[in-house]
Amino acid sequence: MDTSAFIAGFDPFAVNEEEYTTPLVKDELFSNSLAFLRLETAIKNGKVKVKTPREQFVAEVKKHSKALGDIFFLSEADVQVLALALELKNAGYAPLIATDDYSVQNVANQMGIEFASLLTFGIKFKFHWIRYCPACRRKYPPNYPSNTCQVCGAKLKRKPYKKSSLKQRQKKE
Ligand SMILES: [Zn+2]
Repeated sequence: MDTSAFIAGFDPFAVNEEEYTTPLVKDELFSNSLAFLRLETAIKNGKVKVKTPREQFVAEVKKHSKALGDIFFLSEADVQVLALALELKNAGYAPLIATDDYSVQNVANQMGIEFASLLTFGIKFKFHWIRYCPACRRKYPPNYPSNTCQVCGAKLKRKPYKKSSLKQRQKKE
């Protein structure tokens, strides 16, 4: 499962398969959110395993993402998820990435890794990412084709938002 899965409300206990995610996915979730608590409970119960992919698979994913142009839209957590899926596939598993992230799906498709949108798991709620500079707070659209802030050069971060709450914030500014 990638970050988008947990934020959208994916419930690890509703699935019978062996489930994995990566440390950076956990880091991307807000620690007071329902998504974080749900994942933490699933980890403590042994329902979800947290595994860091080996470096060779991370490099392989980055190579493919660069070739596709998706590297700008993938967070390090996304890259880890793809790399872990690749590692599991190499180990003889048949991994299925649960994700609503278009770039994750695109790179997975290119690498011959199966994925399933969250609708498959009964989740109809969709959210969008906003990308921002953690240093100067400048905001960037999701399709901004770079990983770095054009003003100060810092590495961009992202957070989920609902369209309605973004409009409210813009009015205040
Ligand atoms: Zn900046």
